[in-house]
Amino acid sequence: MKKQNNIFADLHTHSTASDGLLSPSQLIESAHEKGLSVIGITDHDTVSGLAEAHRAAEQTGVRLVSGIELSCGWQGRDTSVHVLGLYINEESPALQELLDDQRDQRYYRALKMVDLLSGLDLDVAELRQRFEQAPEKVLGRPHIARYLQERGYVKDFQEAFERYLSRGKPAYVAKDHVLPEVGIEIIHAAGGIAVVAHPGLTSDWGDVWNRISRMPWDGIESYYSEHSPRDVKRFAELARQHNLVSTGGSDYHGEYGKHSDRLGNYGLTQELYYDLVSKCAEKGIKIA
Ligand SMILES: [Zn+2]
Ligand SMILES: [Zn+2]
Repeated sequence: MKKQNNIFADLHTHSTASDGLLSPSQLIESAHEKGLSVIGITDHDTVSGLAEAHRAAEQTGVRLVSGIELSCGWQGRDTSVHVLGLYINEESPALQELLDDQRDQRYYRALKMVDLLSGLDLDVAELRQRFEQAPEKVLGRPHIARYLQERGYVKDFQEAFERYLSRGKPAYVAKDHVLPEVGIEIIHAAGGIAVVAHPGLTSDWGDVWNRISRMPWDGIESYYSEHSPRDVKRFAELARQHNLVSTGGSDYHGEYGKHSDRLGNYGLTQELYYDLVSKCAEKGIKIA
């Protein structure tokens, strides 16, 4: 297929391993069809899709960059700061330990929410049983929402969150944050580069940057699907000033709503990609 633009590398996508619609191999096939040469898969807080993606990438000849998007934050800030790890070794013990901890925390947090729901006189006996029998403690807040819908307590997912599970609602339990500096450290331990994801989406960017600018970042995601040309210029300049690389990607989650048509249309040109590779080499990080 002939490409309509000159996007060479998309370093930010999601598969069904987190909240994307395409399986890792479908995602690789789509990237191939759209004419991308390099694709980064950066599922939220998991690397479980990467093994399948590597097998698919070998067959299509697309270069797969192993990645992850960590939700980090700190006390006093409601929304999380997303930290992209690219070119990581997904088998790194430090990374695995962090992900296991996060999974356990999600699980115990959700269990506390089940307790709170039971205090509200909702019948959650069967839900609790599902949690107790869940292998590997994989259940979390979405499973509670689904149960509430199944039992007819709410009409849909959204209502479950709006009535019970969101911040300020009766069954909400606050989450323990992974600090961004810890996220960066673990990405480094896994041999990857740590990148500030989509800074243009951060409404209080000035405050956030003040707090994080002295951390050992490697890059900023300057070329992002929802960045205006002005944002791109501004963040690419900020990266240069701080001797950081600029990465780029679509944040593709599958073909729906505002996320459709993103794959193949956002990211880095070949020139920008090789610029990234050589800047990383200068810093002593081998990624090519
Ligand atoms: Zn994000
Ligand atoms: Zn993302």
